[in-house]
Amino acid sequence: MQYDYIIVGGGSAGSVMANRLSARSANRVLLLEAGIDTPHGAIPPDVHSSYPGTAYFNPDYTWNKLRVRLQPINKNLPESQRPELRNYEQARIMGGGSSINGQMANRGAPNDYDDWGRQGAKGWSWESCLPFFRKLERDMDHDDALHGREGRIPIRRIYQQEWTPYAKAVAEAMTELGYPYLTDQNGAFEDGHFPVTVSNLYDRRVSTAIGYLDPPTRLRENLEIRSETQVSEILFDGLRAVGVKAGRRGVSETFTGREVVLCCGAVHSPAHLLRSGIGPAGHLADMGIEVRHHLPGVGQNLMDHPSVACSTWLPGESRMTRKDARHIHVGARYSSGLHDAPPGDMFIVQVSKSGWHAVGERLGSLLVFVNKSYSTGEVRLVSKDWREEPEVEFNLLSDERDLDRLKDAFLRASAINLHPAVARVAGYTFPSSYSEKVRAMGRVTRRNEMISKAVGGVLDMAGGLRGTLIDRLITGGLRLRDMMEDDEALEGFVRATAVGVWHASCTNRMGADDDPMAVTDEQGRVRGLAGLRVVDASIMPSVPCANTNIPTIMMAERISDTVVSAG
Ligand SMILES: Cc1cc2nc3c(=O)[nH]c(=O)nc-3n(C[C@H](O)[C@H](O)[C@H](O)COP(=O)(O)OP(=O)(O)OC[C@H]3O[C@@H](n4cnc5c(N)ncnc54)[C@H](O)[C@@H]3O)c2cc1C
Repeated sequence: MQYDYIIVGGGSAGSVMANRLSARSANRVLLLEAGIDTPHGAIPPDVHSSYPGTAYFNPDYTWNKLRVRLQPINKNLPESQRPELRNYEQARIMGGGSSINGQMANRGAPNDYDDWGRQGAKGWSWESCLPFFRKLERDMDHDDALHGREGRIPIRRIYQQEWTPYAKAVAEAMTELGYPYLTDQNGAFEDGHFPVTVSNLYDRRVSTAIGYLDPPTRLRENLEIRSETQVSEILFDGLRAVGVKAGRRGVSETFTGREVVLCCGAVHSPAHLLRSGIGPAGHLADMGIEVRHHLPGVGQNLMDHPSVACSTWLPGESRMTRKDARHIHVGARYSSGLHDAPPGDMFIVQVSKSGWHAVGERLGSLLVFVNKSYSTGEVRLVSKDWREEPEVEFNLLSDERDLDRLKDAFLRASAINLHPAVARVAGYTFPSSYSEKVRAMGRVTRRNEMISKAVGGVLDMAGGLRGTLIDRLITGGLRLRDMMEDDEALEGFVRATAVGVWHASCTNRMGADDDPMAVTDEQGRVRGLAGLRVVDASIMPSVPCANTNIPTIMMAERISDTVVSAG
């Protein structure tokens, strides 16, 4: 069968593209997703849950061979002295990131999208994106010019009634420390704290698979959905993409179409292009890949939001009581005023439990991240074999503006956690981060459950020794006092422990005709090729001041609208 559109990857963007392109009955659309499907009636409980911390780390939903480097690399050093290779979750499930992510739903600063236009993405601006932010959402709380009421993704806020004593105390401390209360995180882009906004309805996640691949959409005769089907190769006739090769349980098939739409995310979409001979000619030659089209920007400009955290002990009465309830309640945006950063460049997230297990339930955290980040890294191949994951180097904090602001952010988070309002409901405060140990404990296993119960019980009984035990068992000896009194210790902590927050983006960025590093035009069409488009987080020119799911959905809404209107 000849398709009009072959969509590779049914993630945040891919599910939207499948819905919108197949809404026109003349289009024959094929959606291929490597991971499992999540149709209505068969959505796994951990995917559907308001508490996302178990889906994040469920290996059934992620690309498990992917390893990344977060810290900058000195290429002159031998492999053994380079920063450690770390896990970095990228979704492998229908709905992609939107099926496993933290459900945080925000849009970023108007300036982010005006900047995209200024960086060469013709026609992109806040004003031109707002209709598509409105189109994607069904805002359950606000009805005004900034919000949509009829979209496929319900958006709601976690109001005070659902907050824990720790969340309420953090909000009080924030007010006193100069972060005023805002009723709407997605309202006017101002500094202050607010109830966090989530893509969730009646206390259940709504992924793009749930919202856009609903039963009526799946009944469309012109839409074919194949899950657990991994695309291994894009097929070309010269400079025109004409189809893909894909396999399911060892059986390979060829599909042909008028246009291939890559929606594999910011790590895997550039890898597909590179394996197809589209990318920097030198790197392709190193990999033994024949150059189809020299596009030096493919895989470059990788961005994320670097973060660190400050955690605190929660006594019994301050903990969450329901296991699957929402655990992030309060957020805050502020302007660092450092370097040349724009207003609202920083973000704080208050977390009422730091893991699904007994230790996590006993710890509240403030996660701080640089929302307008500048550091960039890259995605490269290590082999032309499609079974091999690419090499991913984030280079976090390589731009000193990110380092300085993250250090300052950590001190601000410490001041909030040490504020008398928080001290009334919480206890020992300490520096923390998503180490590999924390990540390993994040997997739901009987062993982790037993270990955490034992450690949690000991911490409960430790009384005056609790701080010493936390230093030993959790922070590896790092103490908050050292960070607050000694800039070198603070910098060492921030450099060593900063992690991204899974907002990988910008590796196939849109840009102007005369920009040699632009990979796609303003509609995601790959430059120099025909029949090949990329629509996912990889085409962002720069990462917005926001978690990236809603901006990615907005881009897919906008580009699909142009494609459908063009016929
Ligand atoms: C753990 C985690 C937490 C996050 N938290 C938040 C949050 O709270 N709020 C927020 O806004 N953002 C969050 N994000 C980021 C956000 O979810 C992503 O930016 C967004 O999902 C990216 O969408 P995408 O369409 O670019 O890629 P994805 O949604 O990742 O979709 C890519 C899809 O392509 C498929 N695919 C890849 N290769 C192939 C192949 N060869 N063949 C077939 N299919 C393939 C993948 O399996 C995947 O389903 C989080 C992300 C993660 C991973």
